[in-house]
Amino acid sequence: MIPYGRQDITQIDIDAVVEVLQSDFLTQGPMVPRFEQGVARHVGAAHSLAVNSATSALHIACLALGLGEGDCLWTSPITFVASANCALYCGAQVDFVDIDPRTYNLCPSALERKLQVAEREGTLPKVLIAVHLCGQPCDMQAIAALARRYAFKVIEDASHAIGGKYQGEFIGNCRHSDITVFSFHPVKIITTAEGGMALTNSAELAEKMTLLRSHGITRDPAQMTHAADGPWYYQQIDLGFNYRMTELQAALGVSQMQRLDQFVARRHELAARYDRLLAALPVMTPWQHPDSYSGLHLYVVRLKLEQIGKSHREVFESLREQGIGVNLHYIPVHTQPYYQSMGFKLGDFPEAERYYAEAISLPMFQTMTRVQQDRVIEVLHEVLC
Ligand SMILES: *Cc1c(COP(=O)(O)O)cnc(C)c1O
Repeated sequence: MIPYGRQDITQIDIDAVVEVLQSDFLTQGPMVPRFEQGVARHVGAAHSLAVNSATSALHIACLALGLGEGDCLWTSPITFVASANCALYCGAQVDFVDIDPRTYNLCPSALERKLQVAEREGTLPKVLIAVHLCGQPCDMQAIAALARRYAFKVIEDASHAIGGKYQGEFIGNCRHSDITVFSFHPVKIITTAEGGMALTNSAELAEKMTLLRSHGITRDPAQMTHAADGPWYYQQIDLGFNYRMTELQAALGVSQMQRLDQFVARRHELAARYDRLLAALPVMTPWQHPDSYSGLHLYVVRLKLEQIGKSHREVFESLREQGIGVNLHYIPVHTQPYYQSMGFKLGDFPEAERYYAEAISLPMFQTMTRVQQDRVIEVLHEVLC
């Protein structure tokens, strides 16, 4: 099976991890800060915190922004469930904004219309999570303008987008948001096995998230309520978690970061080749906003089912049967049973549901060979024509 995504691990990555195993610190040593500084410098953010997953990063990002009971968080229905679940962890409510039919990202005009209604009804969101689906950044300028007008905070879920750019600048610099989150799960662009990162330009948010990452405990006398009892002393001043990243993971991250630009460039080569060789097929290839350089975590095509004369499911199954490990990103979150039990129903977000009825993620990963890509294209020709 040619998978839809897979990690790219070299001997240099392996040596970096083994070196940590033979060192003094397996956790809370020098590699985590090194990884954090490397990513922050690369993308141009002032502060960065490595954590054990993007899900954890989203959770502490929401808490740091003060999200809690009685508040509401809005996000896109076309995302991994974690982008919505983080609100529920904080006791807040979730709502969704339908997608743009061209970018598949949260649609800024749908957002504006929903905000106008919410303002009248007194149900404005406290936080919006903009998900850069497939690595293509959302229209952050429009979102930031609405955030100023309606006074909500913005988190970028850039789990798909490290190495990508918005208006010529790296995603993660938080120019149009309060916090940006990356994921380093093995199918994503760079990996630390499990892992994530939160980036911000606010020293205050960084300090809050640092506390929340490690039990709410501080060793900084300036944060303590009274003078230390002695050199052993620490204080718990908030209720935090153990969301720390290990040194092994950070060493892998530092090593992978050396090849980030190369990884994204390779994904662009593969995408350009797909664009060219799928042009004659009854599929819609991904549209790229001219202002952006996608991280290209995913290459999603939409099937023109009337022309194909087969169902979405039939096409999907035929591709899998022939060894093409296609996938579907994502099942609209509001259609998940857990969300349906909260009152969401089919029909709530029609663009998202239309997308779901036609989308297929084709294999896309750095180490994909020309032969593998040719095979994907050949099978697509057989199945779709
Ligand atoms: C993968 C992913 C996450 C969760 O990442 P983890 O590191 O696995 O917790 C969150 N949001 C999006 C959009 C993702 O793709």
